[in-house]
Amino acid sequence: MRDEVLEFLRQNQGGFVSGQDMSEACHVSRTAIWKHIKALRQKGYKIESYTKRGYRLLEEPDLLSPLAMKQILKTDVFGKRYVYMDTTESTNLEARRLAQQGAEEGTVVVTEEQAAGRGRLSRGWYSPFGKGLWFSLILRPDFAPVEAPKCTLMAAVALTKAFHKMGLTDAGIKWPNDILVNGRKLVGILTEMSGSMEEISYIVMGIGVNVKTKQEELPEELKLIATSLTMEGIDIERTEAFKIILESLEHQYYEVLDSGFEETLNEWRQLSVTLGEEIEVRAPGNTYEGVATDIDEDGNLLVRIPDGTVKRIMAGDVSIRPRK
Ligand code: ADP
Repeated sequence: MRDEVLEFLRQNQGGFVSGQDMSEACHVSRTAIWKHIKALRQKGYKIESYTKRGYRLLEEPDLLSPLAMKQILKTDVFGKRYVYMDTTESTNLEARRLAQQGAEEGTVVVTEEQAAGRGRLSRGWYSPFGKGLWFSLILRPDFAPVEAPKCTLMAAVALTKAFHKMGLTDAGIKWPNDILVNGRKLVGILTEMSGSMEEISYIVMGIGVNVKTKQEELPEELKLIATSLTMEGIDIERTEAFKIILESLEHQYYEVLDSGFEETLNEWRQLSVTLGEEIEVRAPGNTYEGVATDIDEDGNLLVRIPDGTVKRIMAGDVSIRPRK
């Protein structure tokens, strides 16, 4: 419904549309139209209104619309199919639905806001309107399913390199799926796979990047643990940040397809903030401490516990924390 109102305003860009015309076209009352206009204004749309003439769209916020992105994006595959939504429950859900219907590799599903963004282990991901890059990428690599978890590491490397390019040299990777700046989370990555033991049908990689969020806007529980590009002093349009990130992801992915994971894993080691750290491993019903020493060729984390034995931990079933 809100999309319809917005579409109506867009179609008449520069001109006025009456509340009456919109209410007839969208089959709702004029009061409902007024409420939607109010909601749009809160999201940063500049909409003029005059009693007799109606409404006029003056300016849209820095949006990730297909038109805005197509003009600047220089990729061959990633984002060629670009599915854009004003709002959605979760881009991973939408991307999985599309992947099941056969959506091609490189399909990007992006939204301005997620109502139910997800982290790993069913945790929530805070995704307010227009403040970040909340997107999912569909991949259909022909490598074996056991290699899939390494896609998360690949994405983390690509993203961290993209941030370095934007001037944020303090960004580093926390195993397996977060990008941190001075201990605060800038990015979360959630990789989901569908396939059999022998073959990957598709991988959906959900990526959330905090871009424009300000410290005071963060919900209480994230105030001390989250950060954004703006909070780190990087002043960049979301479209430009998205362009740099998608290009970096595409580059890294084809490097892996062409030459394997080895070089990317080495880069991961260089960019990691986990290796060498004393950490706490939280597995269901079992919490222990140790030192993160390395990752193996499958991307598992190697942790040396106090008695000297080395544990191999797989992404997906544990969380790690720095030891206090
Ligand atoms: P973990 O870091 O414990 O492995 P996840 O990778 O699953 O957790 O990410 C989910 C967690 O990230 C949430 O429990 C919350 O603490 C935090 N979080 C949620 N939204 C954001 C956000 N927009 N920015 C930074 N951190 C967030």
